[in-house]
Amino acid sequence: MHRLYLILAAALLCSGCVAANPPQRINLNAITWMQSSGEYRALMLGAYQTARDNLDRALHDPSWTALLSQVPASAEDAEALGKLPPAVVLDIDETVLSTMPYQAWLLKNHQPFVPVSWHAWVSEAREEAIPGALDFVHYAMEKGVRIFYLSNRAAWGAFDTNRNGRIDPGEEQVELKPFTITNLVRLGFLPQPGISNEDSVRLRAERDANGQPKEGWATSDKTARRESLAADYRVVLLMGDSLNDITAHETPGPHQERWGRSWILLPNPAYGHWERRLYGATGKLSREEKFRRKLDSLDTWQ
Ligand SMILES: [Mg+2]
Repeated sequence: MHRLYLILAAALLCSGCVAANPPQRINLNAITWMQSSGEYRALMLGAYQTARDNLDRALHDPSWTALLSQVPASAEDAEALGKLPPAVVLDIDETVLSTMPYQAWLLKNHQPFVPVSWHAWVSEAREEAIPGALDFVHYAMEKGVRIFYLSNRAAWGAFDTNRNGRIDPGEEQVELKPFTITNLVRLGFLPQPGISNEDSVRLRAERDANGQPKEGWATSDKTARRESLAADYRVVLLMGDSLNDITAHETPGPHQERWGRSWILLPNPAYGHWERRLYGATGKLSREEKFRRKLDSLDTWQ
């Protein structure tokens, strides 16, 4: 009898401690899978092969576009669209560059994602290419297709320029875009013919030549940045690891026929907007609350 009470008490304590003490390394499976598995690598190679096949189709079909705003409504529209030079829009993180060493560092050291460490990592320009990405980009460039890298990396932000371990006055708003360009150039994603590196990369919260914020570019919704290309280019493919790399819709439901054709989504179980949807628009939640919401979201057997 005494032993039964002990077992029951232990069971009660255990269920309580899971809720109260979420595992510190909740992302271990996701990051291990992305860094080490052949399955992840094969999926990325396959996605880029799909992109190449669809690029060929798009180049043979002048009415093909990935932007809903560009879908021609008339024969005149279609003719005008076909005269625009083709372009491909790629996200950067977990689409062409892998940030997994940074994610692994966060995990191993129990660190939260914060701009200061993120910008220190970005400044080193040491990210390696996602499998398949570089071959695809070079294939597209050889066909005369322009590549645009549209990322929610911040164009400006806190950066410990003098490496003294803190953000001093004057370090709150440092221009960060050159770091990303350096990384893309180091690997061969840039330069490309006919367009500057600065114009090829379109980050969040960029400013115009007068130092003013570009309208609609301050948000993680990429619609304004995608549409900024529509007057000059026929955008034939959108690729990224988050729905918002491709559409402002919260679900993949509308326009289902586009997935795997002009819209190509890549896997990323480690982080992304999918998590924010679980957390709701409530701002910053504690690690415990995030863990609880993930548990609550599960569809369970019984
Ligand atoms: Mg990404």
